[in-house]
Amino acid sequence: MLHAIIERSRRIVFFGGAGVSTASGIPDFRSDGGLYRRRFGDLTPEMILSQSFFYLHPEALFDFYRSYMLHPEARPNAAHRALYELEKRDKLRGIVTQNIDGLHKAAGNRRVYEIHGSVHENYCMDCNAFYPMEKILRSQGIPRCDRCGGVIKPWVVLYGEAPDKYTCMGACREISNCDTLIVAGTSLSVEPAASFLGYFHGKNLVVINREPTPADDKATLVIRGAVEEVMAE
Ligand code: NAD
Ligand code: ZN
Repeated sequence: MLHAIIERSRRIVFFGGAGVSTASGIPDFRSDGGLYRRRFGDLTPEMILSQSFFYLHPEALFDFYRSYMLHPEARPNAAHRALYELEKRDKLRGIVTQNIDGLHKAAGNRRVYEIHGSVHENYCMDCNAFYPMEKILRSQGIPRCDRCGGVIKPWVVLYGEAPDKYTCMGACREISNCDTLIVAGTSLSVEPAASFLGYFHGKNLVVINREPTPADDKATLVIRGAVEEVMAE
């Protein structure tokens, strides 16, 4: 059924979340094995990964970030690879991802909208110098710019921060122009990302997720399973 929808579609957009990368060894937030089931002292991951925590306790935020958000060993899985094949066949118009792991770009996809940013882009808050993820991994405490000593901030959208306007505009444009939208590996509980689905006016809304999602009711097809297996097939 999904195969038939893909064959009939000319403009597919894939909208994904943390579940797309669990098979690459990166835990999601809200599943049983996810980070939100754990507490870190008195704090929750949402409290730590927030804009106010970044300004109040940058050292603690960077310790958490290095330990739990950076996965230098992670490689694209079968879901990422299948999406690369669909882009090569000119079926896939774009990927809108809430993930910050950069795995869609690592798989070769070019039209990727990383609406929550990427761990691979880090900038000095004072002089804007660019740094790769390795700079953050190799540093201790607050990472500092080699050029000016400023704080290096990952281009990752923290709770309380607004996502990049142009990335979001591009993502919404792709969603409003596609004929098939595949929503996968996301609980659809983070805003404004989840509300982007409201721009969809195409024919087929496909949901692939292990657990029920708020989009299931509106979907043409709901597949309850592992996105890496479904997409590979
Ligand atoms: P979430 O943790 O809220 O939800 C993940 C959903 O994916 C769950 O419903 C779960 O059942 C499902 N799932 C897990 N593994 C799956 C699989 N293999 N196949 C199918 N479904 C699977 O994640 P979210 O909705 O993306 O929201 C979390 C936020 O956290 C996002 O903003 C994202 O930026 C961030 N995050 C990113 C990463 C990453 O970059 N890989 C990892 C964790 C969290
Ligand atoms: Zn600098």
